[in-house]
Amino acid sequence: ERERERERGADHEYKTHQIRHIMGIEDASMRNGRALSDQWADSVVVRPRTTEQHITVNKRLVLGFAISILTLIIVTAIAITLSVSFERCAAESSGALAANGSSNSKWKQSQNANISHRDSEDGQQPWRHLRLPATLRPRHYDLRLSVYMENFTFSGEVHIEFECVHSTKLIVLHTDRLEVDKVLVYSDSKKAGVMRIQRRFHYQPKQVYVIALHREMKPLRTYKINITFHAHIEHELLGFFRSSYVLNGERRFLAVTQFSPTHARKAFPCFDEPIYKATFRVSLKHESSYQSLSNMPVEASMSDEDGWVTNHFSRTPRMSTYYLAWAVCNFTYREAVTESGVVIRLYARPDAIQSGSGDYALHITKRLLQFYQDYFKVKYSLPKLDLLAVPKHPYAAMENWGLSVFVEQKILLDPDVSSFSYQMELTMVVVHEICHQWFGDLVTPVWWEDVWLKEGFAHYFEYIGTDFLFPKWNMEKQRFLTDVLHEVMLLDGLASSHPISQEVFQATDIDRVFDWIAYKKGAALIRMLANVMGQPLFQRGLNDYLMTHMYGNAARDDLWNKFSEAMQREGKDINITQVMDRWTLQMGYPVVTISKNDSLDNSVTISQEHFVYDTDAKIQNPELFNKSFQWQIPLTLAVGNSSHISTETIIWVSNKTETHRVGHMGGETWLLGNINQTGYFRVNYDLHNWRLLIQQLMTNSTIISVGNRAGLIDDVFNLARAGYLPQNVPLQMISYLSQETEFLPWHAASRALYQLDKLLDRTEDHSLFSVSLISDQFTVCCILTLTSAIRNTRLISSSTELQREVMMLACSFGNKHCHRQAVSLISDWISSNKNRIPPNVRDIVYCTGVSLMDEDVWEFIWMKFHSSTAISEKKVLLEALTCSDNIFLLNRLLNLSLTSDLVPDQDVIDVIIHVGRNPLGRHLAWRYFCEKWDILNSRYGEALFMNSKLISGVTEFLNTEAELNEVRLNFYKSAPAFARAVEIVQANVKWHILFQQQFYRWLRKALDG
Ligand SMILES: [Zn+2]
Repeated sequence: ERERERERGADHEYKTHQIRHIMGIEDASMRNGRALSDQWADSVVVRPRTTEQHITVNKRLVLGFAISILTLIIVTAIAITLSVSFERCAAESSGALAANGSSNSKWKQSQNANISHRDSEDGQQPWRHLRLPATLRPRHYDLRLSVYMENFTFSGEVHIEFECVHSTKLIVLHTDRLEVDKVLVYSDSKKAGVMRIQRRFHYQPKQVYVIALHREMKPLRTYKINITFHAHIEHELLGFFRSSYVLNGERRFLAVTQFSPTHARKAFPCFDEPIYKATFRVSLKHESSYQSLSNMPVEASMSDEDGWVTNHFSRTPRMSTYYLAWAVCNFTYREAVTESGVVIRLYARPDAIQSGSGDYALHITKRLLQFYQDYFKVKYSLPKLDLLAVPKHPYAAMENWGLSVFVEQKILLDPDVSSFSYQMELTMVVVHEICHQWFGDLVTPVWWEDVWLKEGFAHYFEYIGTDFLFPKWNMEKQRFLTDVLHEVMLLDGLASSHPISQEVFQATDIDRVFDWIAYKKGAALIRMLANVMGQPLFQRGLNDYLMTHMYGNAARDDLWNKFSEAMQREGKDINITQVMDRWTLQMGYPVVTISKNDSLDNSVTISQEHFVYDTDAKIQNPELFNKSFQWQIPLTLAVGNSSHISTETIIWVSNKTETHRVGHMGGETWLLGNINQTGYFRVNYDLHNWRLLIQQLMTNSTIISVGNRAGLIDDVFNLARAGYLPQNVPLQMISYLSQETEFLPWHAASRALYQLDKLLDRTEDHSLFSVSLISDQFTVCCILTLTSAIRNTRLISSSTELQREVMMLACSFGNKHCHRQAVSLISDWISSNKNRIPPNVRDIVYCTGVSLMDEDVWEFIWMKFHSSTAISEKKVLLEALTCSDNIFLLNRLLNLSLTSDLVPDQDVIDVIIHVGRNPLGRHLAWRYFCEKWDILNSRYGEALFMNSKLISGVTEFLNTEAELNEVRLNFYKSAPAFARAVEIVQANVKWHILFQQQFYRWLRKALDG
C-alpha cells in the first residue's frame, strides 16, 4: 500500500436480495450462549394488566359469558374467511418482494427452504436469526429526539407505521444500547385501539427487541408501534456519537451519526436492514446555541422560552435506515445552488469556513451533481445536499442521502500547502460519495453480501467523475491501472483471497464484506464490463436499472439483466449474468498465456489458469486445490511490429485451452493481449514474444499505449515473482525507462521496484540492487528532473508527477545528487525558518533529510509537527519521522504515538506501518504490534479497514523463516487478514529460497558486462 491509499470503507454497503433468512445457522459459541440468554429472556416479568379493575365481579361474569358465546360463533365464521384471504395475501406479498429483487432461481429455492424451516421449530423464536422475520414491513417512521449536549444523552420517541405481511404475534425489530421505556402497539383497523402486550424483551446476541402480543396481527393490515427510549451519545464513532474540536482555545462539541452498516439501531428502534425501506420524518430538539441537520431540509422550527429549539425536517422519500443521518453542531457553512435549484452547503468548523478550506469541495460538488444527472439521466432526488466536515469519523466519508459526512482530511483543502496527491485523493472521495446518492441511496442493495456492487460502482466512478472534472489527470485510462487494478491483483492473487460476492452468515460478516476486494475488484470488473459493452450501452443499461428500481432495492442480477437487455437491443446476444457470475462467484483471476504456434497458419494457442503467487498455498487448501477455476475472458488482442500495431480484436476465451487465428505474423511480429489493460487478468507470452516486446519498448515504445506499457511492467514483475518467468526479464524490460517520458509506466515500475526492494533490503547483496538501479538508468534523468521539480513551486500537471516519481526513486535508492539537494533544502529551512520546499515533494525531502541528517533534524521535524495547523502538512511531517535510522528514536515515536494524545488516533496506524517500511524499523514495528495487539485491537477492531491495513502493513515485508514462524505462532487462523499475512510472508520466504540466488547472479553478470 502506498501513502495515497485511502482508508475508506465506510461509505458502504451491498446487496442481494431479500428477505433471506439464514435460519438455523448458528455457530458453536452461540449455542453455548443460548442457555444464558434464555434465562435472561424468560426472566422478563409479564405484568398483569389492570385496566378492568373497576368492573365488578358479577358484571364480569355476565359480560364474559355473553362475549364467549358471541365470540365462538363469530370466530368460526371468520376463521374460514381469513384462512382463504391469508393464503392469497401471503402469495401476493412474497411475489411483490421477489419482483423487487433477484429472479435467480437458486435464490428462490433457498428462500422457500428457509420459510418451511421457519414454520417448524425455529419459527417459534425468530429473534435468534441473523435476519428479521419477513412478517412485517415498515412504511413510515416519525422520529422525535431530544438531544442533551451538556451530558451527552438523548431521549426519543418513535412511531412506526408498518404492514403485516404474514400473520404473527411477534414484533421483532433492532435496538442496541438503547434503554426502552414504554411500548404501545395500535391496530389500525376500524376498532382502533391498543393491543395488549404479552411480554417484551431485548435479545442482545442479535441486537433485537421482541414484543409478543396477545393477539395475532393479520396480513394486509397496518399497525403502529410507539416506543420511547433513551441512550448515551457515545464516544465511540458509531451510531449517534460525539466528537470535538478546539475553536479559539475553547473545546466545542458536536454529535453526528454513522449508521452504515448496522448502527441505526443504536440511535432508535428500527427495522435495520437495507430491504426495509420506509419514509422518515425526523425532528430534533436541542439547545438553541446549536443547529441541527438531517437528510431533508427543515420544514418548521419552533423555539420555546427556555432556550430550546425543535427542528422538524421534511418527510424523506422511501429509503433504508443505514443512510439516514442527523447532526447537532455549531458549524458555519458556504452555499452554492445548481442550475436545477438544488442547494448545496458545506458545513465545517467556523475557522475552516472562514479560511475558505471548504470552497474547493463545494465547487466540485456543484459540477458533479450536474455530471451525474446527465450521465445517469436521472435527477438528484432531494431538494438539498449538505456536506459535513467532521473532525473525527470512522471512515473517510459516508454517503448519507442529502447529508454526506466527511472526515476533515477528505474534504477541506488549503490550496497553499496541499500537495497534488492530497487534492486528488480528496476529489476522488467527494466524487465517490456523490455517486452513491444514486448508486446506493436511490437504488439500494438488497442485502450486504453484494456490497461490492455499490462500492465497486462508486469506486469506478471516482475515475469517471474525476475525468469529467479534470480531463488532464487521465484517471480512467491511466491512474486506474496502478491505483486499482495492479493494487487489487496483488491481493486477489493469494490463495487466501475470497470471491467478491461473499455470503453473510452472521452479524460480524457484515463488516467483513467491506474490504479492498469489494471496492477495487468490484471497480475493475465494472470497468472491464463497461469496455466490453461500450459506453453508450453501458450508460443505457444503468439508466434503465436506476429508473426501474428507484426508491427500491435491487440485486446484482437485476443489473446484469438490464445490461443484457441493452446489448440485445443492439443485436448483441451476450448473457451478462453468465459471464459475470464467473468473475463474481469465483475468487481470484486468470493468467492468460498466449503462444504462437509453429505452424504457418498464423494461429496462436491461448490458455487460462488461476493465477496464484504461491502454488503451495493453493495445494495446502484442499477446497481450493480441487477446484478448477475457469472464466469467460474477453481477451483483446493486437499484433504489431517495429512501426505498426493492428487494431484490436476481441476473443472470448472460455475453455482451458483454445486455438485461434490472428492476423498475419512474420518472424518479428509480436502479440499484445489485454489492450489498454481493460481486462481483469494477467497476460503471459512465450519468451520469444517477451523479447520482441522488450525490443519494441527500447526502440520505439510509443507504438504501445501508455496503459499497456504500465500493464506490461506490472505483469512482468508479478509473473516473475510467482515463478512464471525468469527473474531477469522484468529488469531487462525496465531498462527502457530511461526513454520513458510518461508518468504511468514509471509509476508502475516504481511500485514493482519498491516491492522488490522490500524483499531484498535486508539481504547481504542489497547494495548490488540499488546500485544497479541508480547507476544504470537513473542518474542522468534524475538530475534533470530533480532540479526542475525543485524550481517549480506548484506542481500539478502530469509531467511534474513524473518528476516527483523519478525523484522519489532517486532519493530512495541512494542517488547522491538527490540526497544533496534534500539536505540543502532542509538546512535552508532550519536556518531561515522559512519552508521553501514545494508541497509536492515535501514527503521525499523530509524523509531523506531525517534519514541522512542528525538527531536535531528529527527534533526539528517533531517540533514542526506540533506547531503546524494544516492537516495535510502534519501528516507528511509525522511520516517523515519514521524514516530515521536511529532505533531509539523510532521506538520513542511508536510509544509517543500510542500512549500520548500527541498523535491523532487515525494516524497512529500509519506511524506503525511506516516504521515497518524502514528496513531498520521492520522488526521493531512487528514486535511492537505484537506487544500492543490488545490495545490496538480494542481501539481499531471495529474500524475494519484500519485493522486489516495495520495487519498487512506490519507483516507484508517480513521475509525470514523466523519471522514466518512468529506470525504463525502469534496469529495463525484468527482474522482473515492474518491468514493473508501468513500466506504473503510464506511466499516471501519461498521467493528467497527459489529465486534470490538466480536474481543476484544475473545482476552481477549484468553489472560486470
Ligand atoms: Zn462507498
